[in-house]
Amino acid sequence: MTIRHLRLVLGDQLSFENPVLQEGDPEHDLVLMAEVVEETRYVRHNRHKLVLVLSAMRHFARELESAGWRVLYIDLGSQCPSLFDALVRTVEDTQPEAVCCTEPGEYRLRRAMADWTRALDVPFELLSDTRFLASHGDFREWAAGRKQLRMEYFYRDMRQRYGLLLDGDGGPEGGRWNYDRENRAGWRGEDVPPPREGTSPDALTRAVIREVDERFADCPGDLSEFAWAVTREDAEAELEAFCRRRLSRFGHYQDALADGEPWLFHSRLSAYLNIGLLEPLAVCRRVESAWRAGDCELAAAEGFIRQILGWREYVRGIYWLEMPGYRERNALSAHRPLPPWFWTGDTDMRCLSQALEQSLSLGYAHHIQRLMVIGNFALLAGLSVEAVCEWYLGVYVDAFEWVELPNTLGMALHADNGLMASKPYAASGKYVQRQGDHCRHCRYDPRRVTGEGACPYNALYWHFIDRHRQRFSGNPRMKLVLANWQRKPAAERRAITDWGEVLLSRLEAE
Ligand SMILES: Cc1cc2nc3c(=O)[nH]c(=O)nc-3n(C[C@H](O)[C@H](O)[C@H](O)COP(=O)(O)OP(=O)(O)OC[C@H]3O[C@@H](n4cnc5c(N)ncnc54)[C@H](O)[C@@H]3O)c2cc1C
Ligand code: SF4
Repeated sequence: MTIRHLRLVLGDQLSFENPVLQEGDPEHDLVLMAEVVEETRYVRHNRHKLVLVLSAMRHFARELESAGWRVLYIDLGSQCPSLFDALVRTVEDTQPEAVCCTEPGEYRLRRAMADWTRALDVPFELLSDTRFLASHGDFREWAAGRKQLRMEYFYRDMRQRYGLLLDGDGGPEGGRWNYDRENRAGWRGEDVPPPREGTSPDALTRAVIREVDERFADCPGDLSEFAWAVTREDAEAELEAFCRRRLSRFGHYQDALADGEPWLFHSRLSAYLNIGLLEPLAVCRRVESAWRAGDCELAAAEGFIRQILGWREYVRGIYWLEMPGYRERNALSAHRPLPPWFWTGDTDMRCLSQALEQSLSLGYAHHIQRLMVIGNFALLAGLSVEAVCEWYLGVYVDAFEWVELPNTLGMALHADNGLMASKPYAASGKYVQRQGDHCRHCRYDPRRVTGEGACPYNALYWHFIDRHRQRFSGNPRMKLVLANWQRKPAAERRAITDWGEVLLSRLEAE
C-alpha cells in the first residue's frame, strides 16, 4: 500500500491536537513513533520521566490505532540509535511521498532536523506547534523594541487575548491583574494536604517500569513510587482531583516549604502539559470555571493561571528568542563543580536534603524548592551553570529544555544577567525559615551566620553579595541589600566572608 505522508510523532507531542495529526489523513498516512537510544540518553533522565514518556507513547500509539491510524512503533528493544535512523529506515521501507513532524520543543533536535531536510531522499516538512498559546512570532512581536522583557506585561496581554479572568469591561476580575502578595504564606502546619491521588500503573506501564529498571539502573528514580498518569483520560482525572481537593489552598501555600510534604497543594500537572496529555488553555479555563463556581478564591485561580498562561508561555518565548546563545551564558562566572551529594541528597542541610531526595526519588520538587532551596544554594555557592542545568534537565519528570533552561539558567542562577529576573533570587536561611518548618528539624541554626552550627545559607548569601557587589551596584533593586551589607562593621563582614570561604572550600573538597 502506498503511503502519502509519513507523520513523525515525538514523545512530548502525544495529543490529537498535534498539528501533524490534525493535518493528516489516517487512510493514506502512516504515523511513526520511536523509542530511540539518543533520546533516552542525551542526559541522565530520571526513571520516572522515562517511564512516563515511554508508557504514555505506547498508550497513545494504541489510541491512535483505535482511532483508525496506522502506526509504526519502534520500541526500546530494537536499540534504534536515533530518530534520524528510525526515519531513514522507515522511509526506505515504506517509500512515502513526504515526511512531516511538528516542530520539536528542544533546540538540539530542531538543529538536527535542519540537516534531515538535506539528508532525506523525500521532502521533510516541519509544522508550527499550535499547542502553545503564544507562537514564536507572537513572542518576538511582543518583545520587539522593549528594554525589559517583564513577564507581568506579557501575562496581562495574554489574559486579554484569551479572555481569562476578565470582568465585563475587559479589565481584570477583582480589579487587579496579580494576586502574588496574597500567595506567599509560610507553612505553619494548619492545613493537611490531601494524600497524592495519583494513578495506579496498568499492565502496560508495569511492563515499561520493569524495562526501565533493567536498562536504566544508572539513573535516579524510585519506581516503586510511580503514580503518574500516562493517558489523557487519567491526566484529566488528576486535573479534576486538583480542582476539587487542592486548588482552594494552592494560592495560599504556593510559596510554602513543608517538612516531609513533597507535594503540598501543588497541581503536579506540568509533565502532562509538557508531553501533550493536557492542553494549557483547557486547564486554565477549567480553573477559571472553578473560581466562577465559587470553589476557590480569586487569588488561587489567578495565581495558578498566571503560572501557565504567563510563566510557561513566557519561558518558552525567551528560550526560542535567545537560543542557541542562551545556553552558553554564565554572567556570574559560576564554575564550581556540583558536590556529589546532589546525586544522593546526603547533606545535613535539611531543606536541601529533602528537596534533593524527593527530586531524585520522585522526579518532582515544587517551584519554591527548585528556586529558593536548590537553585538558591547553587546560585550562592557559584556552582557551574552548565552542570546545574544538566542536573535539572535530568532529574525532573517535567524537564524539557525549552522550559528547564530559562527557569534554571535565567531565573534561578541569574546567568543571563537579568534578562528574565530583574534581581537575583538570592536569599539567606531566613527566607527558608519564614516559609516553612524545615529549620526546626535541622542541625543548623538559621539565626547564626558563622561557625560550625550556623546555617550555611547565611554566610554563603553574604559571600555572594560581597563577591558580586560591583556588578550589583548598578541595579536599583539591589541597593538596599548592598547598603545593609556595607553597614555591617568591617570585622563582621570579614568574619562572614572568611566563613563563606571555608564553606566553599569544603564543598570543593567533597
Ligand atoms: C530552577 C527551575 C527549574 C524548573 N524546571 C522546570 C521544568 O523542567 N519543567 C517544567 O515544566 N517546569 C519547570 N520549572 C517550573 C516549575 O517549578 C514547575 O513547572 C512546577 O514546579 C511543576 O509542578 P506543578 O505541576 O505541581 O506546578 P504548580 O505549582 O501546580 O503550577 C501549575 C503549573 O504552572 C506551570 N508553571 C509554574 N511555574 C512555571 C515556570 N516557572 N515555568 C513554566 N511553567 C510553570 C506548570 O505547568 C505547572 O504545572 C522550573 C522552575 C525552576 C525554578
Ligand atoms: S537552618 Fe539553614 S540549612 Fe537548615 S533547614 Fe534552615 S535554611 Fe535549611
